[in-house]
Amino acid sequence: MGRLLPFTIYHLLFANMNVLVLNCGSSTAKFQLIATDLDQIARDADEHLASGVIERIGGEAIITFSARGSEARRSTAPVRDTRAAVETVIRWVTSADSGIEEVKSVGDIHAVGHRVVHGGERFKQSVLIDEDVLRGIEDCIDLAPLHNPGNIRGIQAAREVFGPGLPQGAVFDTAFHQTLPPHAYLYALPYQWYRRYRVRRYGFHGTSHRYVAYRYRRLRGLAREQTNIITLHLGNGCSAAAIKGGDSLDTSMGMTPLEGLVMGTRSGDIDPAIIDFVGAKEGLSAQEVDLVLNKQSGLLGISGLTNDMRELLDESHESGDRRAGLAVEIFCYRVRKYVGAYLAAAGGADALVFTGGIGENSAEVRKRVCEGLGWMGVELDPAANQATTARREGLISREGSRLAVYVIPTDEELLIARDTVRLIRGVTQRF
Ligand code: ADP
Repeated sequence: MGRLLPFTIYHLLFANMNVLVLNCGSSTAKFQLIATDLDQIARDADEHLASGVIERIGGEAIITFSARGSEARRSTAPVRDTRAAVETVIRWVTSADSGIEEVKSVGDIHAVGHRVVHGGERFKQSVLIDEDVLRGIEDCIDLAPLHNPGNIRGIQAAREVFGPGLPQGAVFDTAFHQTLPPHAYLYALPYQWYRRYRVRRYGFHGTSHRYVAYRYRRLRGLAREQTNIITLHLGNGCSAAAIKGGDSLDTSMGMTPLEGLVMGTRSGDIDPAIIDFVGAKEGLSAQEVDLVLNKQSGLLGISGLTNDMRELLDESHESGDRRAGLAVEIFCYRVRKYVGAYLAAAGGADALVFTGGIGENSAEVRKRVCEGLGWMGVELDPAANQATTARREGLISREGSRLAVYVIPTDEELLIARDTVRLIRGVTQRF
């Protein structure tokens, strides 16, 4: 890839920006290309130009690209490393083949925004990346050994490919939850563990919780300080957050994403004594049990079938599979329990907001989570609940329901692109 145009003053002053949003994992790179700027943000008029994913980096990779929401195109090609993945993305978005009019050469990409999983206690907001920030992200590898190294490779790859002049933003999964008070983020463990090893609740999915909280207040015409809600991100990973006055007050994921709700393959909350007990019975090390808790538990572990909620619902309806039904029941029960806990923690709330693949699409899971919540003022509107799927946004509770219920599709990439633009434009106000 040839040398690229430096980021010019022209883009700072006039044109809107095409931001490449990267989410780089250990062997996967997801991307979106989003055209946005302060004016578009104010009008909610940002444009998603393209998206895609490169899987199995390091070998014969599976490449999926889609321009402007059109049918995804899949292909395979050898992709050596993260840098080669970023180059593959740029080659495609700038090619005539992609049909993206706005991006004809690398110079038409004006910034890169990265999803970074762990920002520890240092990163309380999104930041523009420099050497010092990069070192800070490296310092958090200890806390997220599976995630931060991939994110760092993504930052370095983008730097090599675009040159050091192109602004890059880092948006952290943990940052939104940095407003948790000590009584919510500290575990009842020896305090020295927090001091020495930073053992505490950090919480994840922060960009998603923050985005849906923003959409909620746009829908209701509220100020940030008036945002008092419980957000439920239910996807492969699942987490709940209590948001009070616009800030995260508590959240269900902990020092790692393992804690809290039942997830696709993660157990969520368990008695920690189980680790030693089962380890001794099965001859597994603590590390091996940890792997089971992360990869073979949750919906998959209970059902013995799949981690996929849609398949479990189908299976329990069509063949009456008992364990598939049980997995769904335990999943919904745990969510309901957290709703109750967070209403108590926050002193009430105005709304529940469902998001994530399950939260956005499954009217049945939403109904089952809300079952029995009538006493606290939840009255679902069955028709609205049924009709609100496939990335539709809206109210699914009855007029007059004391606790309103919304479905709001998440868009973490959009928030990453917006934060990157706001940082470049020097806008420091909180969102
Ligand atoms: P990730 O956390 O990996 O981004 P998603 O947010 O896409 O995952 O969520 C994936 C989950 O959403 C899967 O369990 C999938 O079965 C579930 N899901 C998607 N569509 C439906 C549906 N119509 N009904 C029930 N579950 C669904």
